Amino acid sequence: MKVPFVSLKATTDELKEQFLSKVEGILEKGDFITGSELKLFESDYSAYNNTSFCIGVNNGLDALKIALKAGDIGNGDEVIVPANTFIATWLAVSEVGATPIPVDADETGNINVDLLQAAVTSKTKAIIPVHLYGLPCNMDVVMSVAANKNLLVVEDNAQAQGARYNGKKTGSIGHINATSFYPSKNLGAAGDAGAITTNSVELYGKAMLLRSYGSSVKYVHEIAGYNSRMDTIQAAFLNTKLSKLDEHNNWRIRIAKLYSVELKGIGDLILPAETLPDCRQIYHLYTIRTQQRDKLRNYLSEAGIETGIHYPLSPHLQQAYQHLGYKKGDFPVTERICETTLSLPMYYGLTEEQAGYVCKKLKGFFM
Ligand SMILES: *Cc1c(COP(=O)(O)O)cnc(C)c1O
Repeated sequence: MKVPFVSLKATTDELKEQFLSKVEGILEKGDFITGSELKLFESDYSAYNNTSFCIGVNNGLDALKIALKAGDIGNGDEVIVPANTFIATWLAVSEVGATPIPVDADETGNINVDLLQAAVTSKTKAIIPVHLYGLPCNMDVVMSVAANKNLLVVEDNAQAQGARYNGKKTGSIGHINATSFYPSKNLGAAGDAGAITTNSVELYGKAMLLRSYGSSVKYVHEIAGYNSRMDTIQAAFLNTKLSKLDEHNNWRIRIAKLYSVELKGIGDLILPAETLPDCRQIYHLYTIRTQQRDKLRNYLSEAGIETGIHYPLSPHLQQAYQHLGYKKGDFPVTERICETTLSLPMYYGLTEEQAGYVCKKLKGFFM
């Protein structure tokens, strides 16, 4: 049996016809830039998240960057970020001229909110909590630290579309929030795309300007903006997919339950954190941890099972961030996660038979 780490085939097969007919309409009308499908997506995605506004942009990194810039974060400012995240979270901070200040993970993999307060200095202007692997962060603590210190909160919801924290959608709790529709995300486009969500009319207005050359009236430029509009064709794809998101997330939750029941107590495995009451994690990734990660990965690969590592090296130890002067040992929990984490196959369309086979092989390894 072959089990890929991720496959988009089941989703694409489901949506293909509807998408192609939308593309035909777009081609006929030449409605390529900020077309009607984009407006429809922005209104449906803000309704889905229960936010007042949504702004479609080019990708997740741009969404983060524009969100920070809309909040006037720039040169000389410090922004608190998780040590344990995809590097895009940090890069957005660097791109606006601010400095990422990492905070270590807790055992769930998410930012350790008990360490937040101590990371705040007189230069701190914002916090970017990341709902890593689709697991909601403790937003109550994030929001209360931010309120005390008057900080902007930008949720990085790239891995958590449809997740819920205390009954609210993640990506609707921070002041302005960013997400990515990179194809393999839970809500993936047919290429690059991203979005910003907010309830603030001021931040919305500023982000709208930033996304399109700082201009709301053609050839009138109020600020120096970017070019980061979501393509109408990507929006059309996302419109066909958004109505399936809950169903697709439920599929992942069902597979995750199967993994968690089957793998409980096996070897030295650490399984994903349990979902707290009134929350919903949507398993963008199903990550396990073991001291024998590399050996296990090879073993599974020989059995036809593809896995992933999220992430092999954290941003503070990457060459790109050498200038910040961090060294091994600075963020021990994050480093331990990087050395031991393994992501099992997880996607809409993965069958119970396939997941059962993954578990059987995993048990065999530890026997
Ligand atoms: C994917 C991802 C991003 C960046 O999204 P792109 O669309 O690839 O730019 C940002 N943050 C996190 C946590 C991600 O997983």
